Amino acid sequence: MDFKQYITIVEDYPKEGIRFKDITTLMQNGQVYKAAIQELGKYASELDVDVIVGPEARGFVVGCPLAVEMEKGFVPVRKAGKLPREVLSVDYGLEYGKDSLTIHKDSITKGQKVLITDDLLATGGTIEATIKMVEELGGVVVGIAFLIELSYLNGRDRLSQYNTFSLVTY
Ligand code: 5GP
Repeated sequence: MDFKQYITIVEDYPKEGIRFKDITTLMQNGQVYKAAIQELGKYASELDVDVIVGPEARGFVVGCPLAVEMEKGFVPVRKAGKLPREVLSVDYGLEYGKDSLTIHKDSITKGQKVLITDDLLATGGTIEATIKMVEELGGVVVGIAFLIELSYLNGRDRLSQYNTFSLVTY
């Protein structure tokens, strides 16, 4: 399936010069959304996965249906202040300043095999921070799956030691 035709490119969003890849138009089509998740499922089925981890909010859009399809658990990574119990926190760089991501400390046990998901790989900063937290909790990252990869931002260079898959590349 040509998934690209269901992704809308929005010029100059969220600021001038950015060509934002809007996946909501893909999600609005139930058959296409399902097919996209199934393609990621094919990739994941080659891996030995115990649990799926994804950063908010669009990482949930990919990770949750995949987790249900695979009958695996899903662990959310959220911005600071959003998770109710004890968290591990990691700072990561944004274009301007920094932000932090958090994960429940008891959400991953030592040696658990983790598949990380997000909608889109840009510079790789979000996923790098997510990997850091998973590994600090003792998890083993066995794969990373994206709907979209922006290859011109070279995020994959930061993930070179990991098994990575993207459904669509720009
Ligand atoms: P990175 O940390 O790799 O630079 O940026 C990836 C994160 O930013 C992802 O969590 C993704 O949701 C968001 N993101 C950045 N650019 C886009 C875009 O063009 N489309 C969508 N859907 N998300 C984006």
